[in-house]
Amino acid sequence: MIFVQTKKEMDESIKLLKKNSDKISLVPTMGNLHEGHLSLIELAKKYSSKVIVSIFVNPLQFGENEDFHKYPRTLEKDMKKLIDKKCDLLFFPKSEQEIFPETHIIKKINSGKLGNILCGEKRPGHFDGVLTVVHQLFSLIKPNIAVFGAKDYQQQILIRDMSKKFFPKIKIIVGPIIRDKNGLALSSRNTYLTKKEKEIAPFLFKSLKQGIKYYKENNDVNFTKKEVKNMLINKGIEVDYLEIRDNHLNNLDNTNKRNKKIFLGSIRLGNTKLIDNIEFF
Ligand code: AMP
Repeated sequence: MIFVQTKKEMDESIKLLKKNSDKISLVPTMGNLHEGHLSLIELAKKYSSKVIVSIFVNPLQFGENEDFHKYPRTLEKDMKKLIDKKCDLLFFPKSEQEIFPETHIIKKINSGKLGNILCGEKRPGHFDGVLTVVHQLFSLIKPNIAVFGAKDYQQQILIRDMSKKFFPKIKIIVGPIIRDKNGLALSSRNTYLTKKEKEIAPFLFKSLKQGIKYYKENNDVNFTKKEVKNMLINKGIEVDYLEIRDNHLNNLDNTNKRNKKIFLGSIRLGNTKLIDNIEFF
């Protein structure tokens, strides 16, 4: 695996990779890799001959009182996993300047209305930060394909929209949510959970599933949300939001009963925010 830490090295490696007319996939991450991230690499391999993974804890997407400083940074362990997965290149910028050089004009992306609902409402500026870093990575690497996880559902929709506008040639692929045996969606932030919190965290997935059952039994969105919220509160879980939307996160209208829908939830356990979602028809 090639290990690249600067923009200059990245430019050179990309030239070399492209010379062999390889199709290149990019899997952007913030590290502390788990089976969810590794599944995206597997998926990338199906679509391309070379896979690049980036690990960058992007300061722009963290709010002032969020966990930027304590976010788990586990480079050595991550490298071992990437070598085992036969990743071709790891981009691990040695400083923020390699991604956001002070001498260049950075295109700041505004995530608009869609970036300010759901997770964006609770985390102002978060999706602007995500889109800005993905825009920078796409500009620098110019991959043929980029792979993201359905766990961050709102994020992948926003990235698809941004990419369609600025990088129409990049194909965006989205991989399914990888879960623990108990249903809990894997996340780097699960490492923050105490033993007790780990026991109740899978309840988010369980209650979303139960909510879909209610909804399909002809209960309306508000009733379903209220029932699920009560289930979570009864377990001592603080609910940020629960929403049933269409697959582009619009409110449901009654004309599209057979279309794909999504039930999304965000909860807090102590200081840890966990999100999950289930798509259904
Ligand atoms: P992160 O390192 O949390 O920024 O995530 C990097 C990528 O991995 C994003 O596209 C996430 O949506 C994806 N991802 C995170 N957790 C999972 C999971 N449990 N299953 C599938 N993809 C995931």
